[in-house]
Amino acid sequence: MRKSKQLLAFFKSLKFRLILFILVLAIVPSLILAAGLLNSYESRAVSIRESEILSQAKILANQIATSDYMNMDEEVESSTIQAQIDMLTTIYDGRVIIVDRNFRVYCDTYNLDDHKMIIAEEVIRSFRGEDITHYDSENHYIEMTIPISNPNDSSDKVLGVMLISVSTDNIQINQGYLRQIATIIVVIVAVAMVFFGVLMVLHFLKPFAKISEGISAIKEGYGDDCLQVNNYTETAQICDRFNQMLSRMKVMDDSRQEFVSNVSHELKTPMTSMKVLADSINTMPDAPVELYQEFMEDITNEIERETKIINDLLSLVKMDKSAADLNVTTVNVNELLEQILKRLQPIADKQKVELVLESFRPVTAEVDEVKITLAITNLVENAIKYNRNDGEGWVHVSLNADHQYFYLKVEDSGIGIPEESLEHIYERFYRVDKSHSREIGGTGLGLAIARNSILMHRGAIKVHSVLGEGTTFDVRIPLNYIA
Ligand code: ADP
Repeated sequence: MRKSKQLLAFFKSLKFRLILFILVLAIVPSLILAAGLLNSYESRAVSIRESEILSQAKILANQIATSDYMNMDEEVESSTIQAQIDMLTTIYDGRVIIVDRNFRVYCDTYNLDDHKMIIAEEVIRSFRGEDITHYDSENHYIEMTIPISNPNDSSDKVLGVMLISVSTDNIQINQGYLRQIATIIVVIVAVAMVFFGVLMVLHFLKPFAKISEGISAIKEGYGDDCLQVNNYTETAQICDRFNQMLSRMKVMDDSRQEFVSNVSHELKTPMTSMKVLADSINTMPDAPVELYQEFMEDITNEIERETKIINDLLSLVKMDKSAADLNVTTVNVNELLEQILKRLQPIADKQKVELVLESFRPVTAEVDEVKITLAITNLVENAIKYNRNDGEGWVHVSLNADHQYFYLKVEDSGIGIPEESLEHIYERFYRVDKSHSREIGGTGLGLAIARNSILMHRGAIKVHSVLGEGTTFDVRIPLNYIA
Protein backbone atom coordinates (compact mmCIF):
# COMPACT_ATOMS: atom_id res chain seq x y z
CA MET A 1 0.00 0.00 0.00
CA ARG A 2 2.74 2.42 1.03
CA LYS A 3 4.87 1.32 -1.90
CA SER A 4 2.08 1.89 -4.42
CA LYS A 5 1.50 5.33 -2.88
CA GLN A 6 5.19 6.14 -3.23
CA LEU A 7 5.10 4.92 -6.83
CA LEU A 8 2.05 7.06 -7.55
CA ALA A 9 3.77 10.07 -5.96
CA PHE A 10 6.83 9.43 -8.16
CA PHE A 11 4.72 9.22 -11.33
CA LYS A 12 2.98 12.46 -10.37
CA SER A 13 6.25 14.22 -9.61
CA LEU A 14 7.72 16.99 -11.72
CA LYS A 15 10.96 14.97 -11.78
CA PHE A 16 9.34 12.04 -13.55
CA ARG A 17 7.48 14.24 -16.01
CA LEU A 18 10.62 16.16 -16.95
CA ILE A 19 12.59 12.92 -17.48
CA LEU A 20 9.76 11.54 -19.63
CA PHE A 21 9.67 14.78 -21.59
CA ILE A 22 13.42 14.66 -22.24
CA LEU A 23 13.16 11.00 -23.27
CA VAL A 24 10.35 11.70 -25.74
CA LEU A 25 12.22 14.76 -27.01
CA ALA A 26 15.34 12.64 -27.61
CA ILE A 27 13.79 9.47 -29.03
CA VAL A 28 10.96 10.71 -31.25
CA PRO A 29 13.13 12.97 -33.47
CA SER A 30 15.82 10.23 -33.67
CA LEU A 31 13.20 7.68 -34.77
CA ILE A 32 11.70 10.06 -37.33
CA LEU A 33 15.18 10.88 -38.65
CA ALA A 34 16.16 7.21 -38.89
CA ALA A 35 12.91 6.23 -40.63
CA GLY A 36 13.22 9.17 -43.05
CA LEU A 37 16.84 8.33 -43.89
CA LEU A 38 16.08 4.62 -44.39
CA ASN A 39 13.13 5.39 -46.68
CA SER A 40 15.02 7.92 -48.73
CA TYR A 41 17.95 5.49 -48.97
CA GLU A 42 15.59 2.85 -50.45
CA SER A 43 13.99 5.14 -53.03
CA ARG A 44 17.36 6.62 -54.01
CA ALA A 45 19.00 3.18 -54.36
CA VAL A 46 16.05 1.86 -56.40
CA SER A 47 16.05 4.84 -58.74
CA ILE A 48 19.85 4.52 -59.32
CA ARG A 49 19.40 0.80 -60.00
CA GLU A 50 16.52 1.53 -62.39
CA SER A 51 18.43 4.08 -64.43
CA GLU A 52 21.48 1.77 -64.54
CA ILE A 53 19.43 -1.17 -65.80
CA LEU A 54 17.49 1.00 -68.23
CA SER A 55 20.66 2.29 -69.87
CA GLN A 56 22.17 -1.20 -70.03
CA ALA A 57 18.90 -2.61 -71.39
CA LYS A 58 18.68 0.14 -74.01
CA ILE A 59 22.19 -0.57 -75.23
CA LEU A 60 21.31 -4.24 -75.43
CA ALA A 61 18.00 -3.51 -77.19
CA ASN A 62 19.85 -1.39 -79.78
CA GLN A 63 22.37 -4.12 -80.34
CA ILE A 64 19.58 -6.71 -80.73
CA ALA A 65 17.81 -4.47 -83.26
CA THR A 66 20.91 -3.69 -85.30
CA SER A 67 22.23 -7.26 -85.23
CA ASP A 68 19.12 -8.72 -86.72
CA TYR A 69 19.12 -11.15 -83.79
CA MET A 70 15.33 -11.43 -83.89
CA ASN A 71 15.31 -12.82 -87.42
CA MET A 72 17.82 -15.57 -86.87
CA ASP A 73 17.07 -19.19 -86.32
CA GLU A 74 17.30 -20.19 -82.70
CA GLU A 75 20.16 -22.47 -83.47
CA VAL A 76 22.23 -19.77 -85.09
CA GLU A 77 21.39 -17.01 -82.55
CA SER A 78 24.17 -14.45 -82.24
CA SER A 79 26.33 -15.76 -79.50
CA THR A 80 27.67 -12.26 -78.64
CA ILE A 81 24.16 -10.92 -78.03
CA GLN A 82 23.28 -14.03 -76.04
CA ALA A 83 26.44 -13.54 -73.97
CA GLN A 84 25.46 -9.95 -73.25
CA ILE A 85 21.95 -10.98 -72.24
CA ASP A 86 23.42 -13.60 -69.92
CA MET A 87 25.84 -11.05 -68.45
CA LEU A 88 22.99 -8.62 -67.75
CA THR A 89 21.03 -11.32 -65.90
CA THR A 90 24.08 -12.39 -63.92
CA ILE A 91 25.17 -8.90 -62.88
CA TYR A 92 21.73 -7.83 -61.75
CA ASP A 93 20.48 -11.22 -60.62
CA GLY A 94 17.50 -11.01 -62.96
CA ARG A 95 15.59 -12.48 -65.84
CA VAL A 96 15.34 -11.25 -69.43
CA ILE A 97 12.53 -12.21 -71.77
CA ILE A 98 12.45 -11.10 -75.38
CA VAL A 99 9.09 -11.10 -77.13
CA ASP A 100 8.84 -10.92 -80.92
CA ARG A 101 6.29 -9.02 -82.97
CA ASN A 102 3.81 -11.88 -82.66
CA PHE A 103 3.90 -11.62 -78.85
CA ARG A 104 5.67 -14.94 -78.76
CA VAL A 105 8.58 -15.42 -76.34
CA TYR A 106 11.70 -15.47 -78.44
CA CYS A 107 14.13 -15.86 -75.62
CA ASP A 108 13.73 -16.41 -71.84
CA THR A 109 16.87 -16.61 -69.72
CA TYR A 110 14.96 -18.79 -67.23
CA ASN A 111 13.73 -21.01 -70.13
CA LEU A 112 10.30 -21.17 -68.47
CA ASP A 113 8.12 -19.34 -70.97
CA ASP A 114 9.86 -20.25 -74.21
CA HIS A 115 7.53 -19.99 -77.24
CA LYS A 116 4.61 -18.89 -75.07
CA MET A 117 2.51 -15.86 -75.91
CA ILE A 118 2.72 -12.81 -73.64
CA ILE A 119 -0.04 -10.32 -74.33
CA ALA A 120 0.34 -8.17 -71.24
CA GLU A 121 -0.64 -4.49 -71.13
CA GLU A 122 2.98 -3.38 -70.63
CA VAL A 123 4.08 -5.40 -73.69
CA ILE A 124 1.40 -3.79 -75.87
CA ARG A 125 2.38 -0.32 -74.61
CA SER A 126 6.04 -1.00 -75.30
CA PHE A 127 5.21 -2.12 -78.85
CA ARG A 128 3.88 1.42 -79.18
CA GLY A 129 7.33 2.72 -78.21
CA GLU A 130 6.97 3.24 -74.42
CA ASP A 131 9.62 2.38 -71.77
CA ILE A 132 7.85 1.06 -68.66
CA THR A 133 9.48 0.70 -65.28
CA HIS A 134 7.76 -0.65 -62.18
CA TYR A 135 9.15 -1.25 -58.69
CA ASP A 136 7.43 -3.86 -56.52
CA SER A 137 8.48 -2.85 -53.03
CA GLU A 138 6.71 -5.78 -51.37
CA ASN A 139 8.39 -8.51 -53.37
CA HIS A 140 11.60 -6.53 -53.89
CA TYR A 141 12.10 -6.47 -57.62
CA ILE A 142 12.18 -3.99 -60.50
CA GLU A 143 10.28 -4.80 -63.67
CA MET A 144 11.08 -3.08 -66.92
CA THR A 145 9.57 -3.34 -70.37
CA ILE A 146 11.35 -1.61 -73.26
CA PRO A 147 10.83 -1.66 -77.02
CA ILE A 148 13.48 -3.11 -79.32
CA SER A 149 13.83 -0.83 -82.34
CA ASN A 150 16.64 0.07 -84.69
CA PRO A 151 17.87 3.63 -83.98
CA ASN A 152 19.12 3.89 -87.56
CA ASP A 153 15.73 3.05 -88.99
CA SER A 154 13.75 6.27 -89.38
CA SER A 155 10.43 4.41 -89.37
CA ASP A 156 10.95 3.56 -85.65
CA LYS A 157 9.54 0.13 -86.26
CA VAL A 158 9.38 -1.90 -83.04
CA LEU A 159 10.85 -5.33 -83.71
CA GLY A 160 10.13 -6.77 -80.31
CA VAL A 161 9.92 -6.06 -76.59
CA MET A 162 12.46 -6.81 -73.89
CA LEU A 163 11.08 -7.67 -70.43
CA ILE A 164 13.56 -7.46 -67.61
CA SER A 165 12.91 -8.26 -63.95
CA VAL A 166 15.70 -7.64 -61.49
CA SER A 167 15.81 -8.48 -57.80
CA THR A 168 16.48 -5.63 -55.33
CA ASP A 169 17.33 -7.95 -52.46
CA ASN A 170 20.77 -6.42 -51.97
CA ILE A 171 19.14 -3.00 -51.48
CA GLN A 172 16.96 -4.55 -48.76
CA ILE A 173 20.03 -6.20 -47.21
CA ASN A 174 21.82 -2.84 -47.10
CA GLN A 175 18.71 -1.21 -45.68
CA GLY A 176 18.50 -3.87 -42.96
CA TYR A 177 22.11 -3.21 -42.07
CA LEU A 178 21.48 0.54 -41.91
CA ARG A 179 18.39 -0.08 -39.77
CA GLN A 180 20.48 -2.02 -37.28
CA ILE A 181 23.01 0.82 -37.07
CA ALA A 182 20.18 3.37 -36.69
CA THR A 183 18.61 1.32 -33.86
CA ILE A 184 21.94 1.15 -32.04
CA ILE A 185 22.42 4.91 -32.45
CA VAL A 186 18.88 5.65 -31.22
CA VAL A 187 19.39 3.42 -28.17
CA ILE A 188 22.76 5.07 -27.39
CA VAL A 189 21.22 8.55 -27.78
CA ALA A 190 18.26 7.59 -25.56
CA VAL A 191 20.48 6.14 -22.83
CA ALA A 192 22.80 9.16 -22.95
CA MET A 193 19.88 11.59 -22.91
CA VAL A 194 18.21 9.79 -20.00
CA PHE A 195 21.47 9.80 -18.08
CA PHE A 196 22.21 13.47 -18.66
CA GLY A 197 18.49 14.32 -18.43
CA VAL A 198 18.21 12.74 -14.99
CA LEU A 199 21.37 14.55 -13.83
CA MET A 200 20.07 17.84 -15.21
CA VAL A 201 16.57 17.44 -13.77
CA LEU A 202 17.97 16.50 -10.35
CA HIS A 203 20.25 19.53 -10.48
CA PHE A 204 17.49 21.92 -11.58
CA LEU A 205 15.02 20.63 -9.00
CA LYS A 206 17.46 20.88 -6.09
CA PRO A 207 16.29 24.37 -5.00
CA PHE A 208 12.70 23.08 -4.71
CA ALA A 209 13.88 20.24 -2.48
CA LYS A 210 15.73 22.88 -0.47
CA ILE A 211 12.48 24.85 -0.02
CA SER A 212 10.69 21.72 1.14
CA GLU A 213 13.48 20.93 3.62
CA GLY A 214 13.48 24.55 4.84
CA ILE A 215 9.72 24.48 5.46
CA SER A 216 10.05 21.18 7.34
CA ALA A 217 12.86 22.65 9.44
CA ILE A 218 10.73 25.67 10.32
CA LYS A 219 7.76 23.39 11.07
CA GLU A 220 9.87 21.22 13.36
CA GLY A 221 11.12 24.33 15.12
CA TYR A 222 14.79 24.28 14.17
CA GLY A 223 16.69 26.26 11.55
CA ASP A 224 16.17 29.89 10.61
CA ASP A 225 12.77 31.46 10.88
CA CYS A 226 13.12 32.72 7.36
CA LEU A 227 13.21 30.77 4.10
CA GLN A 228 15.71 31.89 1.50
CA VAL A 229 16.36 29.97 -1.73
CA ASN A 230 17.32 32.51 -4.34
CA ASN A 231 18.58 30.17 -7.11
CA TYR A 232 15.66 31.05 -9.40
CA THR A 233 13.22 33.95 -9.54
CA GLU A 234 10.42 31.41 -8.94
CA THR A 235 12.00 29.97 -5.79
CA ALA A 236 12.76 33.47 -4.51
CA GLN A 237 9.07 34.39 -5.03
CA ILE A 238 7.82 31.26 -3.27
CA CYS A 239 10.15 31.96 -0.33
CA ASP A 240 9.05 35.57 -0.23
CA ARG A 241 5.35 34.62 -0.08
CA PHE A 242 6.08 31.93 2.52
CA ASN A 243 8.01 34.40 4.70
CA GLN A 244 5.17 36.91 4.45
CA MET A 245 2.68 34.22 5.51
CA LEU A 246 4.98 33.17 8.34
CA SER A 247 5.33 36.68 9.69
CA ARG A 248 1.54 37.12 9.51
CA MET A 249 1.09 33.93 11.46
CA LYS A 250 3.64 35.11 14.00
CA VAL A 251 1.82 38.41 14.44
CA MET A 252 -1.44 36.50 14.92
CA ASP A 253 0.19 34.16 17.39
CA ASP A 254 1.76 37.07 19.30
CA SER A 255 -1.55 38.90 19.46
CA ARG A 256 -3.31 35.72 20.63
CA GLN A 257 -0.73 35.25 23.37
CA GLU A 258 -0.94 38.89 24.35
CA PHE A 259 -4.73 38.65 24.44
CA VAL A 260 -4.64 35.56 26.66
CA SER A 261 -2.18 37.18 29.06
CA ASN A 262 -4.23 40.41 29.11
CA VAL A 263 -7.42 38.46 29.82
CA SER A 264 -5.76 36.55 32.66
CA HIS A 265 -4.38 39.75 34.10
CA GLU A 266 -7.69 41.63 33.85
CA LEU A 267 -9.62 38.75 35.41
CA LYS A 268 -7.05 38.36 38.16
CA THR A 269 -7.14 41.99 39.29
CA PRO A 270 -10.68 41.98 40.81
CA MET A 271 -9.97 38.54 42.29
CA THR A 272 -6.84 39.85 44.01
CA SER A 273 -8.78 42.84 45.38
CA MET A 274 -11.50 40.53 46.70
CA LYS A 275 -8.91 38.29 48.34
CA VAL A 276 -7.21 41.28 49.99
CA LEU A 277 -10.56 42.57 51.27
CA ALA A 278 -11.64 39.16 52.55
CA ASP A 279 -8.25 38.54 54.19
CA SER A 280 -8.38 41.91 55.95
CA ILE A 281 -11.81 41.14 57.43
CA ASN A 282 -10.63 37.72 58.51
CA THR A 283 -7.72 39.23 60.38
CA MET A 284 -10.09 41.59 62.26
CA PRO A 285 -12.55 39.39 64.14
CA ASP A 286 -13.71 42.30 66.34
CA ALA A 287 -14.22 44.78 63.54
CA PRO A 288 -17.43 46.83 63.70
CA VAL A 289 -20.39 45.91 61.51
CA GLU A 290 -19.99 49.14 59.47
CA LEU A 291 -16.50 48.07 58.44
CA TYR A 292 -17.84 44.67 57.42
CA GLN A 293 -20.56 46.36 55.37
CA GLU A 294 -18.06 48.67 53.70
CA PHE A 295 -15.74 45.77 52.80
CA MET A 296 -18.64 43.69 51.52
CA GLU A 297 -19.71 46.63 49.31
CA ASP A 298 -16.19 46.78 47.88
CA ILE A 299 -16.25 43.04 47.26
CA THR A 300 -19.61 43.41 45.46
CA ASN A 301 -18.12 46.16 43.26
CA GLU A 302 -15.22 43.91 42.35
CA ILE A 303 -17.66 41.09 41.49
CA GLU A 304 -19.62 43.50 39.29
CA ARG A 305 -16.42 44.54 37.59
CA GLU A 306 -15.43 40.91 37.02
CA THR A 307 -18.89 40.23 35.56
CA LYS A 308 -18.57 43.24 33.25
CA ILE A 309 -15.18 42.07 31.97
CA ILE A 310 -16.54 38.57 31.36
CA ASN A 311 -19.62 39.95 29.56
CA ASP A 312 -17.47 42.22 27.39
CA LEU A 313 -15.16 39.33 26.57
CA LEU A 314 -18.14 37.19 25.57
CA SER A 315 -19.42 39.99 23.30
CA LEU A 316 -15.99 40.27 21.74
CA VAL A 317 -15.70 36.53 21.15
CA LYS A 318 -19.11 36.56 19.48
CA MET A 319 -17.94 39.42 17.24
CA ASP A 320 -14.86 37.46 16.25
CA LYS A 321 -17.00 34.79 14.66
CA SER A 322 -17.80 35.06 10.97
CA ALA A 323 -20.14 37.75 9.66
CA ALA A 324 -22.59 34.96 8.75
CA ASP A 325 -23.57 35.04 12.42
CA LEU A 326 -25.22 38.44 11.98
CA ASN A 327 -28.91 38.36 12.70
CA VAL A 328 -29.93 41.01 10.20
CA THR A 329 -33.39 42.62 10.42
CA THR A 330 -34.88 45.91 9.25
CA VAL A 331 -34.41 48.35 12.12
CA ASN A 332 -35.75 51.86 12.68
CA VAL A 333 -32.44 53.52 13.62
CA ASN A 334 -34.08 56.72 14.98
CA GLU A 335 -36.10 54.71 17.49
CA LEU A 336 -33.11 52.56 18.35
CA LEU A 337 -31.01 55.65 19.12
CA GLU A 338 -33.77 57.11 21.29
CA GLN A 339 -33.95 53.87 23.30
CA ILE A 340 -30.19 53.73 23.79
CA LEU A 341 -29.96 57.36 24.92
CA LYS A 342 -32.93 56.86 27.26
CA ARG A 343 -31.13 53.93 28.87
CA LEU A 344 -27.92 55.95 29.23
CA GLN A 345 -29.67 59.10 30.49
CA PRO A 346 -29.27 58.14 34.22
CA ILE A 347 -25.47 57.80 33.80
CA ALA A 348 -25.37 61.15 31.97
CA ASP A 349 -27.45 62.75 34.75
CA LYS A 350 -25.11 61.34 37.37
CA GLN A 351 -22.11 62.82 35.52
CA LYS A 352 -24.04 66.06 34.95
CA VAL A 353 -23.53 65.68 31.18
CA GLU A 354 -26.12 66.96 28.74
CA LEU A 355 -27.18 64.30 26.25
CA VAL A 356 -28.63 65.56 22.93
CA LEU A 357 -29.96 63.56 19.98
CA GLU A 358 -30.36 65.14 16.58
CA SER A 359 -32.00 63.14 13.79
CA PHE A 360 -31.84 64.74 10.33
CA ARG A 361 -34.16 62.22 8.67
CA PRO A 362 -35.98 58.97 9.39
CA VAL A 363 -33.63 56.05 8.85
CA THR A 364 -34.39 52.36 8.53
CA ALA A 365 -31.51 49.97 7.89
CA GLU A 366 -30.77 46.25 7.62
CA VAL A 367 -28.60 45.60 10.67
CA ASP A 368 -28.09 43.20 13.55
CA GLU A 369 -29.94 45.16 16.24
CA VAL A 370 -28.12 43.62 19.21
CA LYS A 371 -24.62 44.17 17.80
CA ILE A 372 -25.33 47.69 16.56
CA THR A 373 -26.86 48.58 19.93
CA LEU A 374 -23.68 47.33 21.62
CA ALA A 375 -21.50 49.50 19.34
CA ILE A 376 -23.56 52.68 19.78
CA THR A 377 -23.93 52.14 23.55
CA ASN A 378 -20.15 51.81 23.95
CA LEU A 379 -19.49 55.01 21.94
CA VAL A 380 -22.09 57.10 23.79
CA GLU A 381 -21.13 55.62 27.18
CA ASN A 382 -17.47 56.54 26.55
CA ALA A 383 -18.50 60.06 25.53
CA ILE A 384 -20.31 60.40 28.87
CA LYS A 385 -17.64 58.64 30.97
CA TYR A 386 -14.64 60.52 29.59
CA ASN A 387 -16.34 63.91 29.84
CA ARG A 388 -15.69 66.89 32.06
CA ASN A 389 -17.28 66.79 35.52
CA ASP A 390 -17.87 70.49 36.09
CA GLY A 391 -21.50 70.26 35.02
CA GLU A 392 -20.76 71.88 31.65
CA GLY A 393 -20.18 68.66 29.73
CA TRP A 394 -22.29 67.67 26.73
CA VAL A 395 -22.66 64.78 24.29
CA HIS A 396 -24.19 65.30 20.82
CA VAL A 397 -25.42 62.30 18.92
CA SER A 398 -26.58 62.95 15.36
CA LEU A 399 -28.04 60.70 12.70
CA ASN A 400 -28.10 61.33 8.95
CA ALA A 401 -28.30 59.22 5.80
CA ASP A 402 -27.97 59.23 2.03
CA HIS A 403 -29.19 56.62 -0.46
CA GLN A 404 -26.41 54.18 0.49
CA TYR A 405 -25.32 54.70 4.11
CA PHE A 406 -26.48 56.06 7.42
CA TYR A 407 -24.07 58.26 9.35
CA LEU A 408 -23.79 58.46 13.11
CA LYS A 409 -21.78 61.13 14.87
CA VAL A 410 -20.98 60.95 18.60
CA GLU A 411 -19.42 64.21 19.72
CA ASP A 412 -18.37 65.11 23.25
CA SER A 413 -16.83 67.96 25.18
CA GLY A 414 -14.64 65.57 27.17
CA ILE A 415 -11.04 65.08 28.07
CA GLY A 416 -9.96 64.08 24.55
CA ILE A 417 -7.46 61.45 23.51
CA PRO A 418 -3.72 62.14 23.08
CA GLU A 419 -2.61 61.86 19.46
CA GLU A 420 -0.17 59.00 20.10
CA SER A 421 -3.01 56.94 21.64
CA LEU A 422 -5.42 57.39 18.72
CA GLU A 423 -4.06 54.44 16.76
CA HIS A 424 -4.34 52.12 19.80
CA ILE A 425 -7.78 52.88 21.18
CA TYR A 426 -9.43 50.00 19.24
CA GLU A 427 -6.99 47.44 20.65
CA ARG A 428 -8.32 45.03 23.24
CA PHE A 429 -7.65 46.16 26.83
CA TYR A 430 -6.02 49.40 25.69
CA ARG A 431 -6.76 52.33 27.97
CA VAL A 432 -5.22 55.79 27.74
CA ASP A 433 -5.19 56.25 31.47
CA LYS A 434 -5.44 52.88 33.18
CA SER A 435 -6.24 54.09 36.66
CA HIS A 436 -8.78 56.68 35.51
CA SER A 437 -10.47 54.16 33.22
CA ARG A 438 -10.60 51.58 35.99
CA GLU A 439 -11.99 54.16 38.36
CA ILE A 440 -14.90 54.80 36.02
CA GLY A 441 -15.46 51.13 35.28
CA GLY A 442 -13.70 50.73 31.93
CA THR A 443 -12.49 47.35 30.71
CA GLY A 444 -10.58 48.51 27.61
CA LEU A 445 -12.82 46.31 25.43
CA GLY A 446 -15.62 48.77 24.55
CA LEU A 447 -14.09 50.30 21.41
CA ALA A 448 -12.79 46.91 20.20
CA ILE A 449 -16.36 45.61 20.43
CA ALA A 450 -17.78 48.72 18.71
CA ARG A 451 -15.27 48.57 15.85
CA ASN A 452 -15.75 44.83 15.27
CA SER A 453 -19.51 45.23 15.16
CA ILE A 454 -19.26 48.12 12.65
CA LEU A 455 -16.79 46.19 10.44
CA MET A 456 -19.08 43.15 10.47
CA HIS A 457 -21.74 45.40 8.94
CA ARG A 458 -19.18 46.48 6.27
CA GLY A 459 -19.15 49.91 7.85
CA ALA A 460 -16.35 52.26 8.93
CA ILE A 461 -15.40 54.17 12.06
CA LYS A 462 -13.20 57.26 12.36
CA VAL A 463 -12.08 59.27 15.34
CA HIS A 464 -11.08 62.89 15.72
CA SER A 465 -9.95 64.23 19.06
CA VAL A 466 -8.36 67.28 20.61
CA LEU A 467 -6.86 66.78 24.03
CA GLY A 468 -8.78 68.75 26.64
CA GLU A 469 -11.48 69.80 24.18
CA GLY A 470 -13.36 66.72 23.11
CA THR A 471 -13.66 63.72 20.85
CA THR A 472 -15.78 62.91 17.81
CA PHE A 473 -16.49 59.41 16.49
CA ASP A 474 -17.86 59.21 12.92
CA VAL A 475 -19.56 55.97 11.96
CA ARG A 476 -20.80 54.98 8.50
CA ILE A 477 -22.92 51.85 7.95
CA PRO A 478 -24.59 50.60 4.72
CA LEU A 479 -28.40 50.83 4.76
CA ASN A 480 -28.64 47.46 3.04
CA TYR A 481 -26.58 44.65 4.44
CA ILE A 482 -23.92 43.44 1.97
CA ALA A 483 -23.22 39.75 2.62
P1 ADP B 1 -12.92 51.45 28.35
O1 ADP B 1 -13.74 50.31 28.75
O2 ADP B 1 -11.69 51.63 29.16
O3 ADP B 1 -13.68 52.66 28.13
P2 ADP B 1 -12.70 51.46 25.47
O4 ADP B 1 -12.18 50.43 24.57
O5 ADP B 1 -14.12 51.83 25.34
O6 ADP B 1 -12.31 51.03 26.93
O7 ADP B 1 -11.82 52.74 25.22
C1 ADP B 1 -10.44 52.66 25.20
C2 ADP B 1 -9.79 53.90 25.76
O8 ADP B 1 -10.00 54.98 24.85
C3 ADP B 1 -10.44 54.35 27.05
O9 ADP B 1 -9.80 53.74 28.15
C4 ADP B 1 -10.20 55.84 27.02
O10 ADP B 1 -8.93 56.13 27.55
C5 ADP B 1 -10.21 56.19 25.55
N1 ADP B 1 -11.50 56.77 25.12
C6 ADP B 1 -12.52 56.11 24.53
N2 ADP B 1 -13.51 56.95 24.21
C7 ADP B 1 -13.16 58.17 24.64
C8 ADP B 1 -13.76 59.47 24.60
N3 ADP B 1 -14.97 59.68 24.08
N4 ADP B 1 -13.06 60.50 25.12
C9 ADP B 1 -11.84 60.31 25.64
N5 ADP B 1 -11.19 59.13 25.72
C10 ADP B 1 -11.84 58.07 25.20
